Amino acid sequence: MNKILIMGPQGAGKGTQAEILAEKLKIPAISSGSLLREEIATGSDLGCEVTKFTEAGTLVPDELMVAIIKKRLAQPDAVNGWILDGFPRILSQVELFLNFVQPTNVILLKLNDENSVERLSGRLQCKECHQGFQEKFVPSKTHPFCDVCGGELVRRSDDTPEIIRQRLQIYHKETEPVAKKFEDMGILSRIDGSGTIEEVAELVAGVFVTN
Ligand code: AMP
Repeated sequence: MNKILIMGPQGAGKGTQAEILAEKLKIPAISSGSLLREEIATGSDLGCEVTKFTEAGTLVPDELMVAIIKKRLAQPDAVNGWILDGFPRILSQVELFLNFVQPTNVILLKLNDENSVERLSGRLQCKECHQGFQEKFVPSKTHPFCDVCGGELVRRSDDTPEIIRQRLQIYHKETEPVAKKFEDMGILSRIDGSGTIEEVAELVAGVFVTN
């Protein structure tokens, strides 16, 4: 059973690569950030609580985050495996996570800060179907609308230069030690995330061919 984590800095392509690999392995791709944005969209009390953190680019408290992830991994579509992106991203979350699940593989997509900022500054998402685009590298042919469903393309509210810098700072300080922990456990694969979507997807798929 594949229980895969995808890690990497903002803009490294975690969500995109998780979706591609999920299709290949026929398991769901689950993103912690998307789970939070879905909760916010419902207008629930939990969603309002979470907004305070996501809008500031700071981390949602561990207990809250772990409860949301645990609930999602218990859904029927995840019984035969899953790919998780965005969690765990600090060491305290790793400890809590390893108490209830043992990941089989961790993919670390590498990207330098300059490329992260460049990719995120031009990132767009369809308001309706959530398909992702990038103004320069993966533009929609029907900009400012979605190629897939015709929906309006919008920027994420936390993809502003100031908040991107804040999120990258957290990544270097808090998330890099997480990668080291998984490396010590012998389940980490470092992949160059700077190529095209197809190039990176090939490198990621290679990890599972040889396994
Ligand atoms: P992302 O879509 O992964 O960039 O996440 C967007 C925002 O959601 C982050 O800036 C955090 O506020 C929150 N978030 C996502 N994943 C986590 C996590 N594992 N722990 C705490 N907060 C998270």
